[in-house]
Amino acid sequence: MSESETHEPEAKTAPIDELPAAVVQGRRPMIAGNWKMNAGGTDGCDLALAIARIAADHDETEVVVAPPYTAIAAVANELYNKKSDVAVAAQNVFYEESGAFTGEVSPSMLRIAGATWAIIGHSERRQLFGETDENVLKKVVAANAGGLKCIVCVGETLDQREAGQTLQVIERQVSAFAAELAKSGGDGVVAYEPVWAIGTGKVASPEDAQEIHAAIRGMLALVDGEFAEQTRILYGGSVKANNAEGLLSQKDIDGALVGGAALEADGFGKIIAMAAKLVRQGKPQ
Ligand code: PEP
Repeated sequence: MSESETHEPEAKTAPIDELPAAVVQGRRPMIAGNWKMNAGGTDGCDLALAIARIAADHDETEVVVAPPYTAIAAVANELYNKKSDVAVAAQNVFYEESGAFTGEVSPSMLRIAGATWAIIGHSERRQLFGETDENVLKKVVAANAGGLKCIVCVGETLDQREAGQTLQVIERQVSAFAAELAKSGGDGVVAYEPVWAIGTGKVASPEDAQEIHAAIRGMLALVDGEFAEQTRILYGGSVKANNAEGLLSQKDIDGALVGGAALEADGFGKIIAMAAKLVRQGKPQ
């Protein structure tokens, strides 16, 4: 072959679509419940235990609950005592380890309390508390250093969507943290949460959401292809038991970040069960 000739590398494995689900090293669906400023006392423990009972029958799904700070230790303790695999996330984290930062909580404090995940850059933090892409990056760096796994949220507002800026906004948000998230391998999670869909009852159509998820995976692939394939991308925004199937069946939708519907164990449990059912039906895990 002359120097100017090129050839495709030999395919050593079957395309992923042709492999039986059991041998696919794929993405385990995650259903995460963001309780926001609710269930911060013993009611949080009751809710977590009710969710844990349902989750125990659906191993295919990774389940995470995010109580307010005040309930993290109690909820984590209850789940531990019940030998539950349900994991605990903080809804936020600060980027310094200790010091004069009144009202803030560091990654290592959250780890000690029993959290293994942190939600970072939720749109309510961005909109109501002025969090910027720069803050989000600092928090991902701190979480990585402190041993917390990240669920980083991105999403456009209605104005941005109507101005045709959806992908531009998401690209800006994703590129702020993607290289740092890649340092935790495939352990990090991205949540696409269109702001206009959060708490409004308006949900993105499965096809629209899939398109954005695929675009986000493409943005992650600019950092590293394997990282992009391993990273779970959750959809969030008015997910409920009755609309979960269409969303979760999409190829690049690897689970859901659920707000309002996460406060009621039965409804949340149905979303967990749906994600598990889709895996059993052959959606790669
Ligand atoms: C959220 O707050 O992350 C969220 C998705 O909320 P809801 O499900 O209530 O829209």
